[in-house]
Amino acid sequence: MIIEAPSYAQLYLFIGGERIDARARERLSVINPATGERIGDLPVATDGDLQRALAAAERGFARWRSVSAFDRARILHGAAVLVRERAENIARTMTTEQGKVLVESRAEVVACAELFDWVAEEGRRAYGRVVPSRSPAIRQLVLREPVGPVAAFTPWNFPAITPARKLAGALGAGCSIVIKPAEETPATALALLEALLDAGVEPEAVSMLFGDPAHISKTLIASPIIRKVSFTGSIAVGKQLAHLAADGTKRMTLELGGHAPVIVSEHADLARAVNMSVAAKYRNAGQVCVSPSRFIVHRSIYDAFVDRFTAKAAGLRIGNGLDEQTQMASLANERRRSGIDALVRDALERGATARTGGSAIDGPGFFYQATVLTDLPADTRVLHEEPFGPVATITAFDALDEAIGEANRLPYGLSAYAFTQDLAESIAISERVETGMLGINHFGIALAELPFGGVKASGYGSEGGTEGLDSYTVTKSVTMA
Ligand code: NAD
Repeated sequence: MIIEAPSYAQLYLFIGGERIDARARERLSVINPATGERIGDLPVATDGDLQRALAAAERGFARWRSVSAFDRARILHGAAVLVRERAENIARTMTTEQGKVLVESRAEVVACAELFDWVAEEGRRAYGRVVPSRSPAIRQLVLREPVGPVAAFTPWNFPAITPARKLAGALGAGCSIVIKPAEETPATALALLEALLDAGVEPEAVSMLFGDPAHISKTLIASPIIRKVSFTGSIAVGKQLAHLAADGTKRMTLELGGHAPVIVSEHADLARAVNMSVAAKYRNAGQVCVSPSRFIVHRSIYDAFVDRFTAKAAGLRIGNGLDEQTQMASLANERRRSGIDALVRDALERGATARTGGSAIDGPGFFYQATVLTDLPADTRVLHEEPFGPVATITAFDALDEAIGEANRLPYGLSAYAFTQDLAESIAISERVETGMLGINHFGIALAELPFGGVKASGYGSEGGTEGLDSYTVTKSVTMA
């Protein structure tokens, strides 16, 4: 049964404390991916809006950095309370504009509150150091200061937690922020913004813009006011933004794509590996940067793993994310559905087997079948390119060295997983797999208290953990005679 979403929110830009609605600007349509229907009109920021947001960020930084760390923490904790109170509405809004099943939206909203709480506390512990000097007449200090106004860009797959990471990190450290969340999922980001404002964040310290992503990012990053850039999205766009940031010698955090290997050893608990893998693979219909996507399974258990994985994937109930019975919902947009289908068609044309799925689902909305591919020739595109959708590939290995080599074969290095009960294997995998995040015997890697970020082509810098605040601070050494 579908429980009605709240009526979809009015959308606006938030600049320097002012809300600018769609009546006063050019508009973009927001679409419900489960039905294909237009649900909202999003105003497009003008050049004047961008300049006003930059000026507000400069003024807002001066004010917000002078709020004590104690009071900033109090305000962020207050925002966490409000997010929890409003969680059900925010979750339904998220499902309506992004598609994912309601239970996932609810968990994501709660994770935002946890992140606000975590960063609130970390901000109070942004300790500096007193460094012993070479002379009793000299005092040496290392101070940590907010880096300055931040420009941030976030994607549509996690409409709440990705903006929350950037908003919390910047504000917790005492920075101002101009953020451009994804145009596909604006209402969720606006709901977080409202919680921050209601809790007492300085209004000029946060502006939220929507519009032409390339134009907004180019303009903001080129401005001397912006001192730090944070982007989550595709590798191609991340590289473009890194070039722009390099021109202004600006600090940058890049959270890009991945193609996560999952090594399933002959020493794995097979039932646990299958159950957890299917749940993790098809979460958010696979549109997750840390989604497990390349299952590398020991030959001795390969057939059993494939059979059980396929049976569970084939049994997933696919439907509208607002229906509490749904286990996998629609993709977020048609672009993603055609992208997935092109990868699957390529695999099938090269001789791969679709154990289940393999096609788009007819009818309204952007649905695709939960798909399992085996017998993949080495040159199959999906073994090289991030699928970012409900597709699992399963290949076999004989020796652990081979599995680790396969895990490290691609330029990505965001997340990796392994299932094994063997301690020596766990140690070898944790030391030798090239990744920013590794889950052994489970998939719970994205928590407020842990750094979230990749290596190799998957980007640099971390959000969350103690590292998350670091990326919004700079150090200043002060020596006094
Ligand atoms: P995309 O690169 O076109 O867009 C990703 C996000 O970046 C969107 O929200 C978009 O608005 C924004 N964006 C695009 N161009 C921009 C620019 N020049 N400046 C600032 N922001 C910009 O990709 P897509 O078609 O939406 O998604 C496809 C691929 O993106 C996926 O296959 C996946 O690799 C990657 N992706 C990764 C993540 C992640 O969490 N790392 C999230 C979403 C998408």
